[in-house]
Amino acid sequence: MSDKYVIPQPPQAAIAVAGSSDKFPVRRIWCVGRNYIEHIREMGQDERAPPFFFAKPADAVVGDGATVPYPSLTKDMHFEVELVVALKSGGRNISVEKANDHIWGYGVGIDLTRRDLQIASRDLKRPWEVGKSFDMSAPCGPLKPASETGHPKNGRIMLSANGAIKQDGDLNQMIWNVPETIWKLSEMVELAAGDIIMTGTPAGVGATVAGDKLSCEIEGIGKLNITIGAPLK
Ligand code: MN
Repeated sequence: MSDKYVIPQPPQAAIAVAGSSDKFPVRRIWCVGRNYIEHIREMGQDERAPPFFFAKPADAVVGDGATVPYPSLTKDMHFEVELVVALKSGGRNISVEKANDHIWGYGVGIDLTRRDLQIASRDLKRPWEVGKSFDMSAPCGPLKPASETGHPKNGRIMLSANGAIKQDGDLNQMIWNVPETIWKLSEMVELAAGDIIMTGTPAGVGATVAGDKLSCEIEGIGKLNITIGAPLK
């Protein structure tokens, strides 16, 4: 095969790096479902069921300061603030002990969710993509390298909408911590440089509407601000 493509090559999805003009290239986006006990309670789910995974397309990432148009088909889009883990390397069957060696850095993201469509597809035993994997559904703030942040085991994770705090948790409330998540994901697929993991959301998820200003922060990791825009025509 030559290196010539028959259509223009799609742009490389990427996330900004804090304090730099450099970018982190995104290969895949993995997300953890139900990783904080209080969120499982608010969703009425089985507290003893293990967390599980779903994915978003790489080009769902949007950066800090973005306006995300209110998406099509839904009447109930929710915010879910999450710790984002960015991998510099990967592999299969990565042990918990070695998992942190594969992490380039961390950031704060939002797993935007068309909750009505997610629940409808769940109840029909259909895939979750319509609820989770839509355009611009993965806002991510600038990433910081682990050399700067260390590997956080705790720290406040919060989201406010129009100045009112909606989600306020701590990273130490995760059911599966980051190394355990990497271990389980790497049993399912081969992880690689450029993969990011959205590690689940604490309690307090809720609906967001056009005009909302969402502000997120994870202590020691960073911030993310987005605006929800008018619905797509
Ligand atoms: Mn989530």
